[in-house]
Amino acid sequence: MSAEFVNKLQRQHLAELVPYQSARRSMSGGSTWLNANEAPLTPAFPEAPEWNRYPSFQNAALNQAYADYAGLKSEQVLSCRGSDEAIDLLIRAFCEPVNDAVMITTPTYGMYAISAATQGAAVADCPLIASADNSLQLDVASMLQRLRDPQQPRVKLIFVCSPSNPLGNLVDSGALEQLLAGVGQQALVVLDQAYVEFIEQSSAQVQISDWLARYPQLVVLRTLSKAFGLAGLRCGFAIGQPEVMDILRKVIAPYPLPEPTISGATAALSATGIQSMQAQVAATLEQRARLLEVLQNKAWVEKIWPSATNFVLISVADAPAIVQQCQQAGVLIRNQSSQPGLSPCVRISIGSAEEMDRLFEVLPA
Ligand SMILES: *Cc1c(COP(=O)(O)O)cnc(C)c1O
Repeated sequence: MSAEFVNKLQRQHLAELVPYQSARRSMSGGSTWLNANEAPLTPAFPEAPEWNRYPSFQNAALNQAYADYAGLKSEQVLSCRGSDEAIDLLIRAFCEPVNDAVMITTPTYGMYAISAATQGAAVADCPLIASADNSLQLDVASMLQRLRDPQQPRVKLIFVCSPSNPLGNLVDSGALEQLLAGVGQQALVVLDQAYVEFIEQSSAQVQISDWLARYPQLVVLRTLSKAFGLAGLRCGFAIGQPEVMDILRKVIAPYPLPEPTISGATAALSATGIQSMQAQVAATLEQRARLLEVLQNKAWVEKIWPSATNFVLISVADAPAIVQQCQQAGVLIRNQSSQPGLSPCVRISIGSAEEMDRLFEVLPA
């Protein structure tokens, strides 16, 4: 299916825009580089790995490594400073201030609405609804209805977080496909998969290349911040049709990723890097099982939300009291009660065995 329609969805002034032609982007090869006002070496680190040079605009080895890991082609991949930057780039590229909107489904990850507000785009909320999995799921009918409402700002991007942060559950694959098919060429569906490594590997949401081939309106966000344990490096990926990546390349900074990030991320995506990530995911899932067992025996826990992630959301009578009691003992957990549609609740990330032992010591009896 052709992705030509995305050129009509982008902000129209971008169709004409020629991106900044940095030295690294406009010229390659050569052996004597005197075209970027760089220093001949780094005085503080004379042995440093070429830190005197601007990094490449998009590192081919890194994008290929992620493409290999995720079963994609490298032209479907754009690397950026965490998936938070990808959210921002999408909104900057597709949403006019005021007249265009992003759709979100609360409770959901907060950055979609914040990035939209930063760019002056409208936010259309179609809250999740109670579901058979004892959690919340997409209300596809009302999402499609809002998409087609000509009286309101035009929805260009639909952000779906699966598995959900802060809920922890996987969005139903059938509902997602229904949404993708229903959206047609009217908008892009942005599937935020920050936690994909923690879900069942048999899920249709893991091998995302099948859906990308069938649904050209799909954009996927991935990150090395969670399962790969590289939140400090700032590396994430936008994945989608090459036409969408071309549009995002117009708005991304000329040198988005620092060199240490490129080399660290590429190493993390080597065969041994992936193996050690998988071992840590397995250990995290064991610790999650321990946490669930502990929580099941606490009278003050009103509900344990189903989790396909490295965190567990629980409903409690008095969220601030529990957060504070833990904090006084030096253990930080997060109050999520201010999320629209959620009763008092706290979110607990799964740490090492020792960190979980410490948590169990300080949780109320
Ligand atoms: C953590 C998180 C992100 C941000 O990831 P970075 O790659 O570190 O920017 C994006 N989306 C969701 C749902 C997250 O939980």
